[in-house]
This record gives sequence, structure tokens and C-alpha cells, in this order.
Amino acid sequence: MKKLKRFLGVLGMVGVLTLVLTACGSRQALSKQDVLANDKASNTITWGVKADTKLFGLMDVKDSQIKGFDADIATAITKKILGKNGHAKFVQVTSQTRIPLLKNGNIDAIIATMTITAQREKQVDFSDSYFDAGQSLLVKKGSSIKSVKDLNKTGVKVLGVTGANSVENIKKFAPKAKVLELSDYAQAMTALKSGQGVALTTDNGILYGMASQNPGYEVVGGAFTKEPYGIAINKGQAPFKKKVNQALKEIEADGTYNRILKKWFGNVAGFDYKEASR
Ligand code: GLU
Repeated sequence: MKKLKRFLGVLGMVGVLTLVLTACGSRQALSKQDVLANDKASNTITWGVKADTKLFGLMDVKDSQIKGFDADIATAITKKILGKNGHAKFVQVTSQTRIPLLKNGNIDAIIATMTITAQREKQVDFSDSYFDAGQSLLVKKGSSIKSVKDLNKTGVKVLGVTGANSVENIKKFAPKAKVLELSDYAQAMTALKSGQGVALTTDNGILYGMASQNPGYEVVGGAFTKEPYGIAINKGQAPFKKKVNQALKEIEADGTYNRILKKWFGNVAGFDYKEASR
């Protein structure tokens, strides 16, 4: 009897172990599968987009749809790759969660205000650049902070978002400042409003969106870095990456890109829409 119990116990353990290993295996395998073939079969491309970033990806509470430049570009690329009935599915990401979600296979690609950097290229592949941003500062109107140099003082607190390269950049441009990291841009804006820092730093395009929602705040200091945005794709997905780059070229050539750019940035004060046209 004792022997039988022990035998059954061992059998149970083996079962549980097999289940755990299979689950890990299939999860791992998801990002290694042929994304292009899967997307064609399901007629769907799953994109990681921001949901808290006006102008690029913002959740519209009225219809629960994520809207913005990134979302529209993703839809346009989807139609080029899958045809006009192709479906673009959006999954909400933050600066911190986007790479893990891609690597786990929860999303096929990231289109979320993401700068192409050498550091990130070790982990993921990038499409050709589809938008040129630059890092800047958002401050309360009338603030004594006029440029990044004004931040380089002990005791000065600057706000940023975890997972954004803006946080690393500001440490180089204003090494004496203390950087406070929030988990997304909505929280960073709340922190700025409650005086937890004298400036919020990230890309100018994102800050213009915030300034338009918060008239008491303004973008200052010009662009002190270059932030070319790319679409991140898992490594080993060459056919999918090729299609994405081809689709980007097509939407630039047929005017779709400029139409989307004008829709979101045509009336943004301080943004040179003509210069950004392709
Ligand atoms: N473009 C920068 C980055 O990729 C800042 C914007 C963001 O947090 O997404 O990190």
C-alpha cells in the first residue's frame, strides 16, 4: 500500500512537471514561430501600442479604442501586408512592458514611440525609422527652467518614465539632477502637476500632446537628442520585418503617411509638420 502511494505520488509529480515544462515550451515557442505566416492565417497583426500618450496612442474612453499616429500607422501597414480586410489588433503597452510582451509572443510588433537604440538592438530587431523625435522638457508656464542646463543642479528633481531611454539620457545631460521614475506618462504628468519634480522629460512629440491637454504647461529647451522611432520585431522574423519595411515604403510613396501625419500633427503648436513630411 505504502509502495503504491509513493508510486502514485511520483507519477503525480512527473505529471505536474510535464505540464509546467510544456507550458513554458509553448510560450517560448510563440515568439519563435513564423509571425508572418501566423498573421496571414489569422488575418490579424497584433501590435503593442501606448494607451496613455496623446497624439501617438491614447485610449478613447468613449469607445474604448486606442487612437493616435502610431495606431493609424499600424493599421495602414496591416492593410498593406494583409489586404484591406486585414485586422490590426491593439494591445496596450508601456515603455517598461513593451519588450517583455514582444519577447513572450503576446504581440507581433511594437509601435509605441520607441527609439531605435544600439542597446535595444541587442534584444530586438527594428524596422526602418518611421518618425523623428527629439528629447525635450515640459514645465509649468513661467518656470525658471528654460533648458536642460538649468536642470543640472543638486536638489533639482526631474520626472521620467521607467523603460524610456529619456531617463538614461537626462542622467548624461544633467548628471546633478535627481531623476524620479514613474510607471507611465499619465502618472508622470500627475507627478509634475503635484510638484514632485520641476520638469518632465521625454520626446517632444509626446510632450506637445501633454501640453495641449494641460494649457498651464509648455515645452521648453528645444530637442537635445535625436530619437528616431522604429517598429520593434522579434529577432529571427526576417520575412515579417521585410514586409513591414516594404509596407512603410508604400505608405510613404502613396501619401498615406503624410495624411496620417497631418491628421495628428497638422495643428500642433511648435511641431513643424511640413518638415516631418515624407
Ligand atoms: N522614445 C523614447 C523611448 O523609446 C521615449 C518615449 C517612450 O517612453 O516611449 O524610450
